Amino acid sequence: MIYRSDNLDLIKSIVKITDVIRDSGIEFKGNKGLCPFHEEKTPSFFAADKRGRFKCFGCGESGDIFDFVQRFYGMDFPHAVNFIKERYISGIDVNVTSGYQARREAKKAEKERIRQLWNQLIKAQRKLKSILTHEKPSFSLDGVSGRYVYATNHIDLINLFLDEFLLNENKFLEFYGKEASEFASYINNDL
Ligand SMILES: [Zn+2]
Repeated sequence: MIYRSDNLDLIKSIVKITDVIRDSGIEFKGNKGLCPFHEEKTPSFFAADKRGRFKCFGCGESGDIFDFVQRFYGMDFPHAVNFIKERYISGIDVNVTSGYQARREAKKAEKERIRQLWNQLIKAQRKLKSILTHEKPSFSLDGVSGRYVYATNHIDLINLFLDEFLLNENKFLEFYGKEASEFASYINNDL
């Protein structure tokens, strides 16, 4: 199950944080009550449905409904999401996994793309260098291979790509990823 952050936002827009807090059994009236996260005799724990957040001015605890349920009931994030879904929005089809998990998977995929692109570019650089070394024309320009001319004209570009890559791999992937991949792929497979 993949949880999408817009689904989490949907849940937050449907479920009132004051309901979740009141249902937890702590002393809570209107929008304030006794903080469950520290000992106190006068209420300094506030919640606002409009913003969907709570904050304690005594101990500093704050967060949204998922944070409250996780901390109050000692649940991890996926259990907190299920708890809220089952208790407050059963019957509404909200398919959610943790946004954290989704972000982690996206990060992993990007890392893999970066690794592949780097290998492609290194391989292409090696091929161009090899062509420049081994296919160098000896006397005249007659009979210069098209591969040699191409390598001469493009070695600077591949070096530049690799420099930029090393400066910031994420930025490189974002701005030049597609172009660099096609370029390297041509050199590696068709040149
Ligand atoms: Zn507190």
